[in-house]
Amino acid sequence: MKTRYFPRILAIIGSFRGQLTFWFGGLALASLLSVGLYLGRIATEELATSGGESLYTGARSAADLLASNLNERVREIELLRQTPLFMRGDLSGADVRKALQLRQQGRSEYAWVGVADVHGRVQQAVNSILLGQDVSARPWFQAARSGSYVGDVHEAVLLSKLLPQRSDGQPLRFVDIAAPILDERGRLRGVIGAHVHWSWVARTVESVVGQSLQQRNVEILIADRNGVVLSPFQYAGQLRLPEHQQSATRHEILRWPDGRDYLTSIVDVTVDGAGDLGWRIALRQPADVALAPVQRLRERLLLLGLVTTLLFAAIAYRFATRISRPVEQLAHAARQVEQRSAPPRYPQATGIREIDMLSSSVQSMTTSLLRHERELEQLNASLEQQVRERTAALSQANEELQRLAVLDPLTGVGNRRRFDERLHEHFLLLRRSGRPYALLLVDADHFKRINDHYGHPTGDAVLRQLAQVLRQGVRATDSVARYGGEEFAVLLADIGQAEEAHVVAEKIRLAVAATVFPQVGHVTVSIGASCATPADHSETEIVKRADEALYRAKAQGRNQVVAG
Ligand code: GH3
Ligand code: MG
Ligand code: MG
Repeated sequence: MKTRYFPRILAIIGSFRGQLTFWFGGLALASLLSVGLYLGRIATEELATSGGESLYTGARSAADLLASNLNERVREIELLRQTPLFMRGDLSGADVRKALQLRQQGRSEYAWVGVADVHGRVQQAVNSILLGQDVSARPWFQAARSGSYVGDVHEAVLLSKLLPQRSDGQPLRFVDIAAPILDERGRLRGVIGAHVHWSWVARTVESVVGQSLQQRNVEILIADRNGVVLSPFQYAGQLRLPEHQQSATRHEILRWPDGRDYLTSIVDVTVDGAGDLGWRIALRQPADVALAPVQRLRERLLLLGLVTTLLFAAIAYRFATRISRPVEQLAHAARQVEQRSAPPRYPQATGIREIDMLSSSVQSMTTSLLRHERELEQLNASLEQQVRERTAALSQANEELQRLAVLDPLTGVGNRRRFDERLHEHFLLLRRSGRPYALLLVDADHFKRINDHYGHPTGDAVLRQLAQVLRQGVRATDSVARYGGEEFAVLLADIGQAEEAHVVAEKIRLAVAATVFPQVGHVTVSIGASCATPADHSETEIVKRADEALYRAKAQGRNQVVAG
């Protein structure tokens, strides 16, 4: 499977459309990713800022509310101690208890309100709780002897057994508010102290965190001056605020001791008149929750990027196919032309000018090439035909030339050269296989006179007719040749006896003598005959003998045969 598709995938990657798809898709992805990342960063900053601002607002309001509520409590105590009852009256009297009780009934956050004398002995208290007890060691008492005091949260010491326990099992915790009771001359008469339920403080602060913030996992924390968390209870004493640049920024993403990042806003709680408590309100929201919309935005941008990339790649692929398909078809057509496998099929008009131009150029080029090739083939064929014809004519001419080379042009019988060849063949045959042969030399008598008398052309005609007579007078295996001027040589095959040769010669002589030559009338010939003998050393010996015989025939009066 893998190996089957691999080359195809490689081919697509290497193709024009593959490349164009890759680059277009890549470009789209790169640009959309960079835009997406940029937008994501801006959105992150925006969201972090707006989320942080809302946390800051929450923290600020919680701190302000807490501060103003505590201030109010401090002022209440202040107002109470400045009443004539407290400044002049009996601190252990029922009126004082009543006044304290009224105060407590109006404010459920007061767990206890009481008055102690200068020695720390409780003189009066709501519901007479701790009455007569010694509170001189309590920090609030000691601090309040010299001025108004608001104390840090602490667990109930003396009151823990005397007050009803909390339903959620948490220990009773209080914030102490206390102030000195002075007479008109400013002398210390005692100390008024109130224990405010810590749960009231916590509720006050938590009331700021509305439902919408809770749904967004926002937590509100109160921490003391050392950064140790006081509220909510599950973190009390367990958690510290992370280190941060005090009031440098209204909010920032901080790593908390649990190792998680939180968008955090921390503000100070400022309580007037009673010394700085150093409390801080922190609102925190897990960073992943705070930035969840950014994450969603990023995912959407990524999805959008991928979809757009695919879309771009698909469009690029289609576009590239529109260009590359006709080019591939052209290449295919060119291959078909090259291999002569089939008639080439050219692409249809694409509407892309350059491609159409290329296509039509290739078509016309191919057509013209093919036409030239056909013309060349035809030319080649006709040339071959011509060569064949010329070769045939040449060989015919050659044959004719050869024939003419061995024929006598006047009489049409063999010439001297032909005679020599034949004589040589006969001589060899005799030598090799003992086949005999005989030679007749035939010479026209007084031929000069014929020429002289009738003219040279008539002499020629006589020679031609004489040659015919000689040919007709011998066998097909014999050969007649013109030996010179008016002299012929006749080679007689398979004749070895002088008598036999003589008979043939005589027959010829008679045939000539009996022939009528136009204008001239009768012509005679003298013949010298000779047979070849095994003793002959060369082929010329027989010629010599025949020539001598001819000479004798002339000398003896012509028109006769003499054997030599
Ligand atoms: P003889 O009987 O002794 O042979 O006498 P002759 O006249 O035939 O012999 P001679 O040798 O004196 O003369 C031969 C003549 O043959 C001379 C020449 O003009 C003639 N002749 C040779 N060749 C040709 C030819 O091709 N055509 C014609 N018309 N005459 C030829
Ligand atoms: Mg002669
Ligand atoms: Mg002669």
